[in-house]
Parts: sequence; C-alpha cells; structure tokens
Amino acid sequence: ERKKLSRLKKTPAITQDGELISLVANIELPADAANAWEAGAMGIGLFRSEFLFMGRAGHLEKFPSEDEQFESYKQAVIAMKGRPVTIRTLDVGADKPLDEDEETALNPALGLRAIRYCLSEPQMFLTQLRAILRASHFGPIKLLIPMMAHAFEIDQTLNIIEQAKQQLRERKQKFDEDIPVGAMIEIPAAALALPLFIKRLDFLSIGTNDLIQYTLAIDRVDHEVAHLYDPLHPAVLFLLSTVISQGRKAGIPVSVCGEMAGDVKWTRLLLGMGLLEFSMHPSQILSVKNEILNSDLRLLEPQVKKVMRASEPAAIAAAMAQLQALTS
Ligand code: PEP
Ligand code: MG
Repeated sequence: ERKKLSRLKKTPAITQDGELISLVANIELPADAANAWEAGAMGIGLFRSEFLFMGRAGHLEKFPSEDEQFESYKQAVIAMKGRPVTIRTLDVGADKPLDEDEETALNPALGLRAIRYCLSEPQMFLTQLRAILRASHFGPIKLLIPMMAHAFEIDQTLNIIEQAKQQLRERKQKFDEDIPVGAMIEIPAAALALPLFIKRLDFLSIGTNDLIQYTLAIDRVDHEVAHLYDPLHPAVLFLLSTVISQGRKAGIPVSVCGEMAGDVKWTRLLLGMGLLEFSMHPSQILSVKNEILNSDLRLLEPQVKKVMRASEPAAIAAAMAQLQALTS
C-alpha cells in the first residue's frame, strides 16, 4: 500500500471530473520543508512560526532576533523552490505556552493569545513581520494571521504590516510589496461574520482544530471531553460549508489547515463542500491525494448536500457512509 502510494508523488491531485486540488503542507520548523517537498507538497499551507519561539523564556529579549527569524523563513522559502510558503505569525497561548513557568490565565484558550498577544507586543510583532517580509524577497510568501475575530483586529494588523514595510523601505531592504495577507478562520464569530474578512484580506485558512474547540466549547487537549469533539456536529458542518462557499462566491481562496484536512475520513466531505486547497502534515499528502484521485465532484456535491440537510446524528452518519461508498 505504501509503495503504491509513493508512486503518486509526482501525480497531480485531480478529481475524476478534472478539478485540480492543491495539497500543501503544515510545518513547524524550516527543516521540515524538505519533507514537504519530498512528499510532493505544492507549497507550505501553514508554517507554525511559534515553534521558533517556544522553549525560550518568555522575556522579549530572549525571542529570536529579526536576523535569526529571517534566516529561518528564508530557509523554508528556498527549500520550496518557488512554491508558495504560508507563514503564520506567532500563535502562542493556551495549548502553546511560550514559557512553561508562565503564569497561566484561568481560561487560557479565551485569553491573550495569538494575534491578541502580538497586538499587545508591537515591537515583537514588528520584528517578526520585518523578518517575514525580508524573506519574501527570496520567494513567494503569504502572511497568515491567527485567531482574529474583530474588524479592528484586522485593521490594526494591516496597519502594523504597513509600518513594518515602511521600516524596511527606510532601511532600503527588499521585500514583496504585494505580499498576500490572510486570516485563520478558527473562531466561530469570524466564520459567522465572514464578509468582514473577505473585504479586507487576500485569502482565508480554516483552522478546524480551534474552530471545533470554540464551536462546541470542548478543550482540544482535555482527554475527559475528547469524546465530545465532533467534526460532524451540524453546527461545525454549517460553519465549514458557509465559509468555503462564501469564499468561493467572493473569489477569495479558502483552504483548510486543521487536522480535518489530513484525514481521509473527511476528504470527500470537504471536496463536496467546494474546498480546493488542503494543508496537512507531509506524511498525509499521499493518502489524501489517493482519495481525491478516486473522487468525482459531480457525484460528491449532491451527496454532501444530503449530509448537510440531515440534522440528526444518525442520518448524518448514514449520509456520510453513502458518500464514502460512491464510486464513479
Ligand atoms: C487549527 O486551529 O486548526 C490550526 C491549524 O492551528 P493550530 O492547530 O496550530 O492551533
Ligand atoms: Mg489554531
């Protein structure tokens, strides 16, 4: 089976009815880009930059310097040889503590994390943005911002990005003036107020790990409630499908970069909702590609509509089983 799959490395992920699907990789450190390339990823869909920051004490002066970050981002871009690299700005807090000894908030998942933290530490944020921008001179980079919910957070972020660009212009350092900026859609409020995001940004990436956590109020790392973590909950299905379809209608690219994108159980569901880009751990690319090669959107789409219309869990499960059984 493994051998059979490895023959698919150079095969494009095209459905039976001819739709090209983009399969890209999630990475944690620049050295992982080599695995992504090796697995046939068409790019990096999620570079979780916090891994460059974690394990160092939580003091500003101990953060990786601009040059150190620049070298890391540049290394990933060069390893991908012209394929796009999506770098997510620092996403710390909750399940990703910067510092083990840090005093934890009562509800860390609802606290000062990700973009909220970055906007409260503008010098640290500007440093990271300059490093990413400088790396964009060496190959295509997309900037991805985690955990936004409010229009003013998007506007403040875009302002800070402009400030970072201005600082580089003053230093006469080169960068991609048109670097695309996108948002993670991982807070239900963002999914439900999507026009705020579509209007201001170039692309969207759905973070199903957090989107499910916040929609169902299930701590994603708490084993005692793990059985309640359900990607097929009708509320989750509604949010996924509304984001994918609104993005497509507006002509703005939408990907999924949470765990759902790399699990073949959900490939047909997401395809049938209209998803064209999947980002996952490099080791999952070939099996997802295999599923795509065996899928026909003309058959999937009406069946996914049935999944969406079935609100009872048993009916959803039955419609999902029919979806998996479709053959063209
Ligand atoms: C997600 O929330 O789905 C996601 C991809 O980001 P992370 O798992 O890093 O929070
Ligand atoms: Mg997340």
